[in-house]
Amino acid sequence: MRYAPTDSPVFTLTTGPVDAYPAVLRGLAAPVLYDYDPAFQATYQRVCEKLQPIVKSETVPLLLQGEPILGLEAAAASAIGKDDVVLNLVSGVYAKGFEGWAARNGAKVLELAVPYDEVIDPADVAAMLKQHPEVTVVAACHHDTPSGTINPVGEIGAIVQAHGALFLVDAVSSFGGMAIDAASANADFFITGPNKCLGCPPALSILGLSRKAWAKMKATAEAPRASILSILDWEDAWKSSEPFPFTPSVAEINGLEAAIDLYVSEGPENVWARHALTAKACRAGMQAMGLALWPKSEGFASPTATAVRTPDGIDEAALRAEVRARYGVVLSSGRGETLGRLTRIGHMGPTAQPLYALVAVAAYGGALTALGHSVDIGTGTAAVLAAIDAS
Ligand SMILES: *Cc1c(COP(=O)(O)O)cnc(C)c1O
Repeated sequence: MRYAPTDSPVFTLTTGPVDAYPAVLRGLAAPVLYDYDPAFQATYQRVCEKLQPIVKSETVPLLLQGEPILGLEAAAASAIGKDDVVLNLVSGVYAKGFEGWAARNGAKVLELAVPYDEVIDPADVAAMLKQHPEVTVVAACHHDTPSGTINPVGEIGAIVQAHGALFLVDAVSSFGGMAIDAASANADFFITGPNKCLGCPPALSILGLSRKAWAKMKATAEAPRASILSILDWEDAWKSSEPFPFTPSVAEINGLEAAIDLYVSEGPENVWARHALTAKACRAGMQAMGLALWPKSEGFASPTATAVRTPDGIDEAALRAEVRARYGVVLSSGRGETLGRLTRIGHMGPTAQPLYALVAVAAYGGALTALGHSVDIGTGTAAVLAAIDAS
């Protein structure tokens, strides 16, 4: 049997958008209230306040009404002025993409780059900052998703704070799926969203901001006002006593509240553990089939996505198409520089369940074999089960 491209897939094991939790879908279906109705304003405040203990930011987290690219671009526009010197830490496609936003107000942008299957070494950041005392802002991507690698942002952040610069961290695809928050990242701007590991649809940005971040934005003449990119306009919008600059995404706020409640009731440590175990089982299964992971070292492989190197001679797009047609499973491609070179299996939110690793390994192995690169699927699936059973 074959699934047609227009048939709904059976399993969406992607790196975002990801499947949403049923409780989130129920939250989204709540009545859409008028944004100035006191009941909605109270909900908005409650959601922002519920975020603070999980984001662990100095100030109440701020929501922007668009998926997290808005948060990243708004942070750059609001915090980086023409007189700033930015050090952009690049280990992947998202970090590289930040460069254009960092330069939008005319700031100078320096780069510390490593190959996209490696991660940034904090010692190199320290050396670079010593060499460039003029750096005022450092930007990093915690989990550069198209590489499936995790950067040591906590250590880097400590160096950046000692230098006195502002630290911006993209934690979109790691927050909620592993132990990372604004405090442990030493981040002034901790930019994330509910649409990856919290299991919501894409529609909101979550920003965990330090007091230093607010002071910097207020001192930045170029910081947008009366704009979709404005952060300053939303400063007090979390308080039910204050007006919104424009209509918030009412349904998405209800969905986010359901996601937070679910996350807290399951217990963040338990949520992270099932993300980590799913990724571990997936890596074990892929490696047992003789396949190589994209990250140079398993030590920095992400617990929220597994990137598998495409074997030589295999067309990666054809491979994913075969996985979908044969088994109804959707996986993610690489992006930019990693496009065509790897396939990614997402372990985010509801799909961070260990048995999904079995689905991914079997489907990937089956399609690969069908395309002429024969692998031992039995060994792969046995390794997945062994990893799960050993936990
Ligand atoms: C998903 C993601 C974002 C959000 O952007 P999209 O490309 O629109 O999905 C930003 N940063 C990272 C690292 C992400 O994984």
